[in-house]
Amino acid sequence: MHRPRIKFPHRPVRYGKEHVRIGGIVPGIRGDLVDRDGWVWALLELLDGSRTVDSVAAAMTKSFPHKPAHMVRAAIDDLVIAGYVEDADEPPSGLDEVTEERYSRSRALFQWMDRSPHRSGWDAQVALGQASVVVIGLGGVGCTAALALALSGVGHLHCVDRDVVEWSNLNRQVLYAEADVGQPKADAAVRRLRSYNSAAEITGASLDIDAPATLRTLAADFDVVLLAADTPREIRSWTNRVCRETGTPWVHGGYHGPLVSVGLYRPGDGPCADCGPAEERARLAALPERTEWPPGVDTTVPQAAGAVGAGCAGNLAAHAVISLITGVPALPANRQFGLNLLTLEEVSVPVPAAPSPWCVSCGPGA
Ligand SMILES: [Zn+2]
Repeated sequence: MHRPRIKFPHRPVRYGKEHVRIGGIVPGIRGDLVDRDGWVWALLELLDGSRTVDSVAAAMTKSFPHKPAHMVRAAIDDLVIAGYVEDADEPPSGLDEVTEERYSRSRALFQWMDRSPHRSGWDAQVALGQASVVVIGLGGVGCTAALALALSGVGHLHCVDRDVVEWSNLNRQVLYAEADVGQPKADAAVRRLRSYNSAAEITGASLDIDAPATLRTLAADFDVVLLAADTPREIRSWTNRVCRETGTPWVHGGYHGPLVSVGLYRPGDGPCADCGPAEERARLAALPERTEWPPGVDTTVPQAAGAVGAGCAGNLAAHAVISLITGVPALPANRQFGLNLLTLEEVSVPVPAAPSPWCVSCGPGA
């Protein structure tokens, strides 16, 4: 850290003479400090990027002779570790002028959300540009997720779907227009995404995921897998297993009527995606016997899906992918999150604290 500067969105506010809030208003970033003698506020005032650490320490010991310079340096270190301070002498990003202009707003948001110390404001964007992501399933969730990732500057985006565009897709699948009806989804998606970001490498394949082996090849070839397909029924469990084998971080996004969900996983770091369902099956087995309504599944009832729900799931899935690649924000992995569009409340998804003993993928019998 050469010339420490409080990040602008984290700029502190003093309440009265003894209380300082730093980090703005956002929960998860803001912090409250007690400042009985004004030392903290005086230090924060000097952290505007115009001084070196040594000159800040010298100015502080002049105003507060009873507090030694090492205390000042330690306090600056604490602020850096907490993610509130950046270096005003940021190293060059290595990006060209147009690219820096294109992602200037992304950089500002990454800088705002990034709590990791000693990182340049451009590090997250550069990491995205070097990353490769495969999006499996180009329906409502996959279209929105792929669009968000292309706009965000993922270096290589590969789009996989076996289907062609149908009229019933056009209420939510944002990469297709009326003229695309009848065209392979992968082709239409690639065309549209390239028109949004010609600097990214965007590829596609009309591919039927009918066995884990197909998924394994994709998981081995890409940095992150985004699963936005729900057929065949086993596809999430297959993805979980092959990503555990290849060590590939992965995300699933989807919805069940108005319930939107996203899950993100780093294989080997805790419970896997099959652990939660295994625990749920064990819980249901202990309940009174369950009887389904006799008519059961009616395949003539269309899938319930809209642009808002699919878009929410797709954007959350893209957000999770960006977190896995950049660490910004540092979302907790190996768990699932949900949102209920009926109430706009978060849906609690039970997460086992440790791998489930009943899990077919990572339990003792796997
Ligand atoms: Zn498991």
